[in-house]
Amino acid sequence: MRDDSPSRTRILTTPDALIEAGLAAPERRAEFAAVAERYAIGLTPALAGLIRASDPDDPIARQFLPDARELIRDPAETDDPIGDDAKSPVKGLVHRYPDRVLIKLVAVCAVYCRFCFRRERIGPGAASLSDGEFAAALAYVRADPRIWEVILTGGDPLTLSPRRIALATEALSAIDHVKTLRWHTRLPVAAPERVTARTARALRAGGKTTVVAVHANHPRELTQAARAACRRLSAEGIMLVSQSVLLRRVNDDVETLDALMRAFVEAGVKPYYLHHGDLAPGTAHWRVPIAEGQALMRALRARLSGLAMPTYVLDMPGAHGKIPIGPQSIRPDGAGRYRVADPRGVEHVYLDRLSDT
Ligand code: SF4
Repeated sequence: MRDDSPSRTRILTTPDALIEAGLAAPERRAEFAAVAERYAIGLTPALAGLIRASDPDDPIARQFLPDARELIRDPAETDDPIGDDAKSPVKGLVHRYPDRVLIKLVAVCAVYCRFCFRRERIGPGAASLSDGEFAAALAYVRADPRIWEVILTGGDPLTLSPRRIALATEALSAIDHVKTLRWHTRLPVAAPERVTARTARALRAGGKTTVVAVHANHPRELTQAARAACRRLSAEGIMLVSQSVLLRRVNDDVETLDALMRAFVEAGVKPYYLHHGDLAPGTAHWRVPIAEGQALMRALRARLSGLAMPTYVLDMPGAHGKIPIGPQSIRPDGAGRYRVADPRGVEHVYLDRLSDT
């Protein structure tokens, strides 16, 4: 089936729809169906149109087409891999760090990524935050003056209508001590046409800083349409940062990561986080060893300016938060000096000389 097939003009949510759109061979129907019983499927026209079905290893297809390995659970994997539940004082709100909270506004997404770290909690059947629950979350934020930043996530909160987004923006902006609203979304790449000027205006919070964290994992996702969506957001004064996951056979090589980070910068998005894969159920086949991730970061640092460099982070299980995991480029040499590796990996001695006065 060609890319302009009508089946690729609507969101594909079933194994049959994926196969009828020509994205996979009919022989995979039973495999897709088995996974679909457990996890949601969703693929938008914008991303379906990027898939080269003739490539069995297509990096876009791999992120969205179900795979039987999703049903294999590693003993270390858990339904709540980063420990949201342990830090959730009211429904839908996570308070892990003193100065910021996360509010999970919705439990649905425009697309369902096969490696999602919240895959056990999201999908068309999962309940989003009710008005009463959102009011309770707001009351919690209002009562704690330490809360400087509120992170809106889900699911994908930009799937809400501009009217609903504006209501959340207005309610949070009215809290004096909240200075920053950060929205995490995959919509600019998954459905760029839905990120309209109206969406951008709804996100704008008078007197506060609005940040949108754009999720993409492969440079092909940053199409002209996706870049235009990002520009519509920045035109309203919104700060854009990136988030990506290091994924086996999607972006685990330096050329792809280099192109991805440059594409972000070209779209006006500052590379922010490259996540090490979380211990979510059925995602072992996605994870890259930490040593390999560090080697990739070292190679990336030799090619990119600081402007285009993300921070490689591990979200530590047990609700311990995000931890930068390197690579480390400085170490004490035991003789009062440091050995510092330059971007090529060559070590130099640095004397941290301080004044006596
Ligand atoms: S868009 Fe985000 S929350 Fe939704 S499936 Fe993908 S990773 Fe998970």
